[in-house]
Amino acid sequence: MKVFVLLGAPGAGKGTQAALIANRLGAVHISTGALLREEINCGSFLGQKVKSIVESGSLVDDSTLFECFAVALTRAREANKFALLLDGVPRNLNQVKILDEVLLKLSLKVDAAIDFETPVDVLIERLSNRWTCQKCSAVVPGNSEGLAPSSCGSCGATDSYARRKDDEPSSVSRRLSVYASETAPISGEYERKGLLRRIDANQEPELVYLDVGAVITKKLK
Ligand code: AMP
Repeated sequence: MKVFVLLGAPGAGKGTQAALIANRLGAVHISTGALLREEINCGSFLGQKVKSIVESGSLVDDSTLFECFAVALTRAREANKFALLLDGVPRNLNQVKILDEVLLKLSLKVDAAIDFETPVDVLIERLSNRWTCQKCSAVVPGNSEGLAPSSCGSCGATDSYARRKDDEPSSVSRRLSVYASETAPISGEYERKGLLRRIDANQEPELVYLDVGAVITKKLK
């Protein structure tokens, strides 16, 4: 199983692309943000611990994050699909190291890091007008009036779209500044390792999909 890290700021479209690739090509998609939101929604101990941190747009500490991620990773390994897409991890340089260690224990390694490059004004516009399905985490833009569809195009749930608390303006600015200081330097690390692939994420989703698909296909050869 090849492992692809999806890098890019909040709103760059990592989750949308990972879901497309998982649904159409049968890859496994792990979104650490979605894992944490599930914990929050079901009110688990871990969920209660991270709720205010996630909603404010700050990062959860590395050990709590990997506690949650390790379970999903083991399940993904067992599914043994052709590709694993990591969306939301690593989020800082220390997580790059921890991720390598946990992957190695499962005889896996990062095969490529795909950097979704998107101008900041586009990120803000997308984050301020998007809806997330509470059931499957699918994300859609609002219609011309800023409203969500009545049923989810991915899982079919009705009235399941809601605005994420951390898509509110104060959390968005925190998330973008955390991204710039903590997460953006990761690209340089993967570049040094010869694993970085940059794509233009400021295109229609189907065009981004072609670019992401091309990176993945090349690695599978
Ligand atoms: P996302 O859905 O990827 O935008 O993540 C939503 C929120 O979950 C982030 O703003 C963080 O609070 C938390 N989060 C997700 N992934 C990580 C991670 N790898 N490390 C720390 N916090 C994370």
